[in-house]
Amino acid sequence: MPVPLAPYPTPPAPYSPPAANGAQSQLVCSGCRNLLLYPVGATSVCCAVCNAVTAVPPPGTEMAQLVCGGCHTLLMYIRGATSVQCSCCHTVNLALEANQVAHVNCGNCRMLLMYQYGARSVKCAVCNFVTSVVGSASAAEQKFNS
Ligand SMILES: [Zn+2]
Ligand SMILES: [Zn+2]
Ligand SMILES: [Zn+2]
Repeated sequence: MPVPLAPYPTPPAPYSPPAANGAQSQLVCSGCRNLLLYPVGATSVCCAVCNAVTAVPPPGTEMAQLVCGGCHTLLMYIRGATSVQCSCCHTVNLALEANQVAHVNCGNCRMLLMYQYGARSVKCAVCNFVTSVVGSASAAEQKFNS
């Protein structure tokens, strides 16, 4: 979901100006594997932690996530990849839809829920409300940004 931004431009940002709508995307640093946020439209991201420059995947590339089967680290990869090697334990995880993780907000208490891709509904662990997962997964993933 697009987040409403300031109604007028506020230029004196000491940082690089936000792209078009100020939307941010995320990728995993190629050096230290930290999750990096960057403005949409950037072509590369310099990591503040290890200074590695990570190339941004071409626009339109959808990132997907899965949980490593070896160490249970959350891994990010370009959707469509068939396998993902974990940077921590070097387990090669098959990027099957069934292993992918998506996010949705509980329809009742707004708790952010994680569920496995392909699930039709998610039961909230907090309020037991069953939220049906409809529409695109990318819409659910964008909520993860906030
Ligand atoms: Zn880094
Ligand atoms: Zn691992
Ligand atoms: Zn709930």
